Amino acid sequence: MARATLFRKVTFSAGHRYWSELLTPEENIAQFGQWASRYNHGHNYAVWVGVSGDVDKSTGMVVNIKDIDAILQQCVVKRFDQKSLNDEAMVGKVPCLETLLCEVAGSLTGLPDGVQLESVKIIELPGFYGEWSQGVLTLTRTYEFAAAHRLASPDLSDEENFALYGKCTNANGHGHNYVLEVTVTGDTDPSTGFLCDISALDQIVEREVVSRYDHKNLDKDVPELQGKTTTSENVAIAIFSLLKDRLPAELKRIKLFETARNAFEVEA
Ligand SMILES: [Zn+2]
Ligand SMILES: [Zn+2]
Repeated sequence: MARATLFRKVTFSAGHRYWSELLTPEENIAQFGQWASRYNHGHNYAVWVGVSGDVDKSTGMVVNIKDIDAILQQCVVKRFDQKSLNDEAMVGKVPCLETLLCEVAGSLTGLPDGVQLESVKIIELPGFYGEWSQGVLTLTRTYEFAAAHRLASPDLSDEENFALYGKCTNANGHGHNYVLEVTVTGDTDPSTGFLCDISALDQIVEREVVSRYDHKNLDKDVPELQGKTTTSENVAIAIFSLLKDRLPAELKRIKLFETARNAFEVEA
């Protein structure tokens, strides 16, 4: 029997704050850094839920979307929408994305027989999302840099380079607005609920990659790319090596979008 996974999206808006009344203001700042505030702020959250199962021979479906929607409305929208996570939906817990992913995954009970929860993805901000997959959490942060380059192999003639790389071998180069997704994984800290200090992650990616690649010529300005053809495969591998072992959590993968229509992934 053939199996398939269905993904369904729901959205909710909720407020939260990173502040504990059990801690002093100084301790809150030490714990939550730049996010510490005794007042709520809010997000429009988007939740993607993936469920898998055998494709039913008579209906052609894994599960009727109506049934999934009823569960998502009950377990996600009704619980979180237009609520304060600290005061209503997640009382006593740090309302971070990591905890929210576990709460949503744990609350999706009552799936029809034979249907299994595969993944939950929650987008908190355009450049920040997390995923729960079979109990493993990942967080993904997005960065951008603009850079020029030229695809040309030193071993080939101009004609051969043109045959291989087409207009990307233009003698004076060309450029892209690169989008870099960095995905980290690991265990959450029981006291904070955090898997990764996101501001520390931002600082390291900014220092190691963005500040060194942004508004640069990748072929000429970036030492680790010297002598390499700056295909996005090679750039992605170089970025992965730069970040590996330097981040506050385990690097799981990076994904480099060269344009809106092509992307390259390097996984641990
Ligand atoms: Zn927030
Ligand atoms: Zn290019």
